[in-house]
Amino acid sequence: MGAGFAGVGCVRRLERQLAPGEAEIALVAPFSYQLYLPLLPQVASGVLTPQSVAVSLRRSQKHRTRIIPGGAIGVDTKAKVCVIRKITGEIVNERYDQIVLSPGSITRTFDIPGLVDNARGMKTLAEAAYIRDHVIAQLDLADASHDEAERASRLQFVVVGGGYAGTETAACLQRLTTNAVKHYPHIDPKLVKWHLIDIAPKLMPELGDKLGNSALKILRERGIEVSLGVSIAEAGADKVTFTDGRVLPCRTLIWTAGVAASPLIGTLGAETVRGRLAVTPEMNVPGLDGVYALGDAAAVPDLAKGDGAVCPPTAQHSMRQGRRLADNIVASLRHQPLQPYVHKDLGLVVDLGGRDAVSKPLGIELRGLSAQAVARGYHWSALRTNVAKTRVMTNWLINAVAGDDFVRTGFQSQKPATLRDFEYTDAYLTPEQVREHTASMTARG
Ligand SMILES: Cc1cc2nc3c(=O)[nH]c(=O)nc-3n(C[C@H](O)[C@H](O)[C@H](O)COP(=O)(O)OP(=O)(O)OC[C@H]3O[C@@H](n4cnc5c(N)ncnc54)[C@H](O)[C@@H]3O)c2cc1C
Repeated sequence: MGAGFAGVGCVRRLERQLAPGEAEIALVAPFSYQLYLPLLPQVASGVLTPQSVAVSLRRSQKHRTRIIPGGAIGVDTKAKVCVIRKITGEIVNERYDQIVLSPGSITRTFDIPGLVDNARGMKTLAEAAYIRDHVIAQLDLADASHDEAERASRLQFVVVGGGYAGTETAACLQRLTTNAVKHYPHIDPKLVKWHLIDIAPKLMPELGDKLGNSALKILRERGIEVSLGVSIAEAGADKVTFTDGRVLPCRTLIWTAGVAASPLIGTLGAETVRGRLAVTPEMNVPGLDGVYALGDAAAVPDLAKGDGAVCPPTAQHSMRQGRRLADNIVASLRHQPLQPYVHKDLGLVVDLGGRDAVSKPLGIELRGLSAQAVARGYHWSALRTNVAKTRVMTNWLINAVAGDDFVRTGFQSQKPATLRDFEYTDAYLTPEQVREHTASMTARG
């Protein structure tokens, strides 16, 4: 359930390991692609086209898996039935013997007035494409406006969240607007301002002090105003209030302040650790027969770190967990012992756009072009299909030669979609509704 890093990693390995006729595999997936999320900031900034980071499921699977186009909206773990809303809206029940829950995560929000209506996340392809259009639209509208107040609010951009997702997003988009504004004769470039804020005292603490400070220096030198120890008190349609009292005219608020497990996890009524499903190191859910969970949605113990730590929500862990879990499912079908998941973190790569980057592969601190080469090389090699690799490489080459493109493709509707719309957070059934659905199936036999 869920065709992300964890789900696809698991399915591909199952297809290879299971003998024909040994098992049937079904994959519940709302979209026909696996999204390569780490490259989303480059989609938002127009360096990559949306298709290049959407890796086709049909190309990367071996055609043995039945792909069900829809989303799971509930699971009856007693009756062993998954309730699915197909992309047509039709609700169907799917029986299972073993179920792998890998629905990933959604943008974590807080009870801040106006936040869910006025902020956009950076978790889906639609959000990245929307933000790109939205940012270019602000330049277009500011250029055409004679109203100083309107121009001021359209030319200030706020990104909340100083983790790698927010930092990369602010850095890549600031580069886009810096290059684009040269083509807008009525905009004073000094008025275009990007703000990156985080309640924590440091940017990307996982990078360590030296490298984190290098990233901060690069951002500040490029004119991004970084405010640490600060969050949002209120988010309006054309202004944002910071917790330090500043009120900023602004129509672009990008919210990347962490992730929360998919709302599906909360409907199971099982034990959770900070919202993620509690699982054993072998990734089964204690007390629920035939239920496994992994990736961002599950709290998989991090045995390499020990001390009760759980794996951070990263692609690096999710895809490896997928492969380990597939081996465990095969082992359970063959009555062999299961193995725990163990992986020592390989480090972090942060692409700040252009030649700017910081990386820490295997503990080695890199900056500039060498860090950029490691970051891009890592992502490129992790893309699953040769088609995706070719698309991404071609886009990078075109961007290096021809620079950024500032096309607004018209993805914006009259009424801007909200975080809820983009991430389908209201799509799920309550446990009672799940039982009603599965009971009607049992009644029909
Ligand atoms: C901007 C950004 C940058 C990142 N950069 C890095 C990085 O550099 N390195 C790194 O290691 N990690 C990075 N990450 C984190 C990484 O992308 C996630 O940890 C990883 O995608 C989690 O894998 P997953 O399989 O658990 O979830 P996902 O990859 O998100 O996949 C979940 C899948 O389940 C589907 N789904 C959701 N709900 C349902 C449902 N109800 N039914 C069926 N399907 C459903 C979704 O559509 C999706 O396809 C980044 C994340 C973001 C947002």
